[in-house]
Amino acid sequence: MTTHTTRMLIIGSGPAGLSAAIYGARAGMRPIVVQGLQPGGQLTITTDVENYPGFRDVIQGPWLMQEMQAQAEHVGTRMLWDTITEVDFSGPPFRAIGDSGDIYEGETLVIATGAQARWLGAPGEQELSGKGVSACATCDGFFYRGKKVVVIGGGNTAVEEALYLTNHSQDVTLIHRRDSLRAEKILQDRLFAHPNIKVLWNKAVERFVGEGTGLTGVELKDTVTGETMIEPTDGAFVAIGHAPATELFKGKLELDAGGYIVVQPGTPKTAIPGVFACGDVMDHTYRQAVTAAGTGCMAALDAERFLAEREFLAAR
Ligand code: FAD
Ligand code: NAP
Repeated sequence: MTTHTTRMLIIGSGPAGLSAAIYGARAGMRPIVVQGLQPGGQLTITTDVENYPGFRDVIQGPWLMQEMQAQAEHVGTRMLWDTITEVDFSGPPFRAIGDSGDIYEGETLVIATGAQARWLGAPGEQELSGKGVSACATCDGFFYRGKKVVVIGGGNTAVEEALYLTNHSQDVTLIHRRDSLRAEKILQDRLFAHPNIKVLWNKAVERFVGEGTGLTGVELKDTVTGETMIEPTDGAFVAIGHAPATELFKGKLELDAGGYIVVQPGTPKTAIPGVFACGDVMDHTYRQAVTAAGTGCMAALDAERFLAEREFLAAR
């Protein structure tokens, strides 16, 4: 068991955590980033990224995150492979315990734990997970080459997943519970123009149908007429959004109704001085890589100011 100490402890290695690290390291805070189970965060499970500023051509999500990590390390960040299981907010220093048994102490704490895929909770979903049911087309789409697949959801993720799956399947169906999508217009235009994608409107998934061998279909209920039907399929991709990774902080930090960390408006400051939250874990509105990076930068700047102020007062 090792105790790691730093002026800025960052939990999470997505765009928010790594941007905080870049700014923190350049301010001489020798940050530690505890990476968690998904080093690089959500962008590592996508392919094309064409809205992150600075790149004229389409870039790949995993590549972008590798570069971000390399930049953070280059300026002096220590990246550590562990998952935080407990946090003591009674500091500073704030104390976190890792799955490995190691202890991490930070004079400031930046929470950048992001978000995770949400599941429908319908019968059969868990049992058939990995046997036809998935939440990541980029990871699992390859297994459905030449087969029929459905995607459930109506946001950017669902539409992107449906479009991505056309690389593998000629028969992609998007299933949405309403009669309009919330995805960006440019993505909707691509979806509707694609000859291999059809949309089933006003349909809710009642059940994932399958035997031990795998998924054979989804039972759907029309949200307007109440009629039910079975849509045969080999693969079902659930793309209904993400839940913030805040289980660790329940009862310790203020969370809103959706489970997101509450911060002072327009800042990454939580109610505990010296503790900051940035990225998707505190942002239920924008949830973009660039906004996560932006709030990560803000968290590092505020952490630096917090320390400078404390040290100035202590020296008086
Ligand atoms: P995340 O990227 O979610 O990272 C969270 C980090 O916290 C991970 O490293 C995880 O391992 C770590 N973590 C969690 N719990 C713990 C713990 N207990 N201990 C230690 N570490 C922990 N946005 C765009 O701008 N453009 C796009 O094209 C785009 N495409 C997307 C495609 C998909 C399929 C998805 C799902 C999202 C996409 N987004 C896109 C959104 C973007 O990925 C997120 O807004 C962004 O990744 C949020 O960054 P984050 O750093 O806040 O959190
Ligand atoms: P989202 O925008 O929250 O959309 C979730 C979708 O799933 C909605 O259409 C919602 O339906 C549907 N849904 C939710 N719960 C459901 C349930 N129980 N049953 C059936 N349908 C359900 O989530 P997202 O698409 O994952 O996007 C998350 C964030 O990442 C967004 O801010 C998005 O802009 C961003 N993102 C950006 C890009 C990009 O810029 N290229 C790509 C992917 C994601 P309703 O519409 O009826 O609510």
